[in-house]
Amino acid sequence: MIDKRKFYINGEWINPVIENDFEVINPSNEQSYAVISLGSKNDVDLAVHSAKQSFSTWSQVDKKEKIILLEKLLKIYNERWDEITKTMSDEMGAPLDWSSSAQTSSGADHIDDFIYRFKNFDFERKFQKNSNNYIIYEPIGVCGLITPWNWPINQITLKVIPALATGCTMILKPSEIAPLSGILFADIVNEAGFPPGVFNLVNGTGEGVGTNLSSHSDIDMISFTGSTRAGKLISKNAADTIKRVCLELGGKGGNIVFADSHPEAVRQGVRNIMSNSGQSCDAPTRMLVEKSIYKRATEEAVDEANKIKVDIASKNGDHIGPVISQTQYDKIIDLINSGIKDGASLVAGGTDKPIGLEKGYFVKPTIFTDVTNNMRIAKEEIFGPVLSIIPFEHEDEAVSIVNDTLYGLGNYVQTQDKEKAKRVARKIRSGGVYINGNSADPGTPFGGYRQSGNGREGGDWGLDEYLEIKTICGWE
Ligand code: NAD
Repeated sequence: MIDKRKFYINGEWINPVIENDFEVINPSNEQSYAVISLGSKNDVDLAVHSAKQSFSTWSQVDKKEKIILLEKLLKIYNERWDEITKTMSDEMGAPLDWSSSAQTSSGADHIDDFIYRFKNFDFERKFQKNSNNYIIYEPIGVCGLITPWNWPINQITLKVIPALATGCTMILKPSEIAPLSGILFADIVNEAGFPPGVFNLVNGTGEGVGTNLSSHSDIDMISFTGSTRAGKLISKNAADTIKRVCLELGGKGGNIVFADSHPEAVRQGVRNIMSNSGQSCDAPTRMLVEKSIYKRATEEAVDEANKIKVDIASKNGDHIGPVISQTQYDKIIDLINSGIKDGASLVAGGTDKPIGLEKGYFVKPTIFTDVTNNMRIAKEEIFGPVLSIIPFEHEDEAVSIVNDTLYGLGNYVQTQDKEKAKRVARKIRSGGVYINGNSADPGTPFGGYRQSGNGREGGDWGLDEYLEIKTICGWE
């Protein structure tokens, strides 16, 4: 059993104030293999105190010194790449090759890009010509950073790196069900030599440590990535202290496949939703297909889903792993059953576990056709390898179906008509629109409209979130 019960507070690994063990389960075999502690309000208070103390000095450290530390952090991250890859693979079920090429690499890309943006970020500027007003961007203060399990290091680096760069101090609370990559990341921060108290880590549940952080009067900002359900609770708990709350929440992405799309568009769409076993906030979970190609598209989708292999995460190769937990597995199976009950046609996958994978939280790549947008499988975030295919007749109908959701995170358009693609992208209400399989460049903003959140992470926008803006009049 791996013992990771200590918290990282004020530059040291220390025991929790009150012992409260929690076992981490490998989703490929349902076995506990590590133990962490769930923190209490006392642990949070210690970490916040240390972050508050160190803010007065860290906020004043100059850019050059911070860049040296951040570059050192990136170097250590790259040296410990395989360890990070294996840790995420074990804790959340990402197959090893994919854990490296997608999960670990996303962290390195974010660190690298934030260093570049930080170097070029203008923290002080004159308001305008002939004005004696001066604008200064300053770190907001002590930050509570709360992250999910599905892209653990991706989310941690999207928060910790801009917070460090801008001069904030922080307490990180990773997801309690995939906490080991966060603990490893704390070790990397420690090895890089950041001053004590700048970065702290306290493990715990959302209801416990999460609530302690969001309601804490000495925390100036919460940056949260996770479910819309928790985002609402955090906003309420933070309200009394008027702290800034940046939210990156759920999604229910639509993928509009027009008749003139690339011949591979349907297959790509299927692979895109199934990757990470469907556990990505911006996954294209609703495929909208123009009626004239509906029959061909559904046949291709079924063929592609049946080709996707499912296996344990510790194997190399091109397959998908289990979903994260029994709770998540039960939720997915319940939603598959709801699709059957609501009258959608189940054409691939289903509720049985793949043969030979009876132990572990494995779900077959599943496809429903003839879905209508009012069914639960089209409305709720399933967070599993389940695709709903919905037919449409014309462009306006497709846009209206895509926008008919509480969410607005990532949506997709497939057509070889460039003008149509741009027109539709403008009409879609979401933080990201991906045309013909194009992906976002490092440093572009990522975030949602409506109940997908209110923040933007990445690049200059990601630095902005951690800054206060001061106007000084009479500068000249
Ligand atoms: P979750 O909301 O259950 O948990 C996320 C984190 O919040 C965990 O650390 C958890 O302990 C904590 N938490 C839970 N309840 C809390 C509370 N009341 N107060 C404070 N903290 C609380 O989500 P999850 O299951 O870990 O992650 C999956 C969700 O994350 C999905 O909805 C997915 O769409 C979303 N997500 C969004 C983005 C994005 O950038 N928009 C990225 C990744 C994941």
